[in-house]
Amino acid sequence: MSAPNKSYDPVEVEALKPEVIDRAKDEALAAVAAAGDLEALREVKAAHAGDRSPLALANREIGALPPHAKADAGKRVGQARGAVSQALKQRQEELERERDERVLVEEAVDVTLPYDRLPAGARHPLTTFSERVEDVFVAMGYAVAEGPETEAEWFNFDALNIGPDHPARTMQDTFFVRGPGEPGDGDAPGSAEDSGVVLRTHTSPVQIRTLLDREPPVYVICPGRVFRTDELDATHTPVFTQVELLAVDEGLTMADLKGTLDHMVRELFGEGVHTRLRPNYFPFTEPSAEMDMVCYRCHGASVGDPDNPCRTCSSEGWIELGGCGMVNPRVLTACGVDPERYSGFAFGFGIERMMMFRHNVEDMRDMVEGDVRFTRPFGMEI
Ligand SMILES: [Zn+2]
Repeated sequence: MSAPNKSYDPVEVEALKPEVIDRAKDEALAAVAAAGDLEALREVKAAHAGDRSPLALANREIGALPPHAKADAGKRVGQARGAVSQALKQRQEELERERDERVLVEEAVDVTLPYDRLPAGARHPLTTFSERVEDVFVAMGYAVAEGPETEAEWFNFDALNIGPDHPARTMQDTFFVRGPGEPGDGDAPGSAEDSGVVLRTHTSPVQIRTLLDREPPVYVICPGRVFRTDELDATHTPVFTQVELLAVDEGLTMADLKGTLDHMVRELFGEGVHTRLRPNYFPFTEPSAEMDMVCYRCHGASVGDPDNPCRTCSSEGWIELGGCGMVNPRVLTACGVDPERYSGFAFGFGIERMMMFRHNVEDMRDMVEGDVRFTRPFGMEI
């Protein structure tokens, strides 16, 4: 650094003395280093680099110097201001980095902490599973059809070829409902049985209503609650959920039924699962069959292998799903559909039963009692 030049006598200009400049610079750098946060640094910047800071004032004095002295003083002040400005910039970056790291720590959310908010809740697994079944058929062009849970006997029985003397029509199996406006005599059973109104014992009356409503081709899936006079125990419930399917079109055969069943179980239980049909009898289908599907867990490998038992199918290899068959021509006739021109197939199964083996539920009461300890493991599907 050059010494004061006698010819311009910088002693006269106090602000430009080298020691004053150096002191101002040192004070500024010390203040910058001491600034503990961004707010403090802003104040340091105003005091040591602002318009009224000693170095800014010194800079202004340069203009008053004789020309030959300007360069020397300008260089000294400029270097000091540059050093202060550089220190401010560095400290600013340091403090911003520290602030960002602190924010990350302070505002972090511990997702493992227990919480005491009310849980949002979810729909019952019976509902979501029932809708999953619907989705499989809606994707194939089927419509979802619904009907009343309180039903006329004609829809529930007669139209489905279930004759007046069929055992299902007794009060041991069916809930009869006293009709509106009917003179009541307490709870005597006779009056209700004559009312012609029942709680539907299956969702088949929805199929009848659909056939009466629409011209074929008809492709519908009918999910819903049905009622039978069972006691609630581990394997029975008086109210359960059924899904039934009906297809009526020209030229439908049992091959279409079989292909549809195979597609459904593949969609619901995965590749490699298929169905088989066993002869059975239902009044509303002819021919009729029980449908089984190959066990989706062991795929039949547990049969005859006592070392690897399968809980899902009890090592039988097959799981019974429900009933099916070709729609009885008498049902088509009852609905005004020409059985010479149209044929159809139908099947139905209980959602509760499917849930029981799909999730190894051992007691049917768990599914109807509404205890969230049962439904919670099924997740928050909505
Ligand atoms: Zn199995």
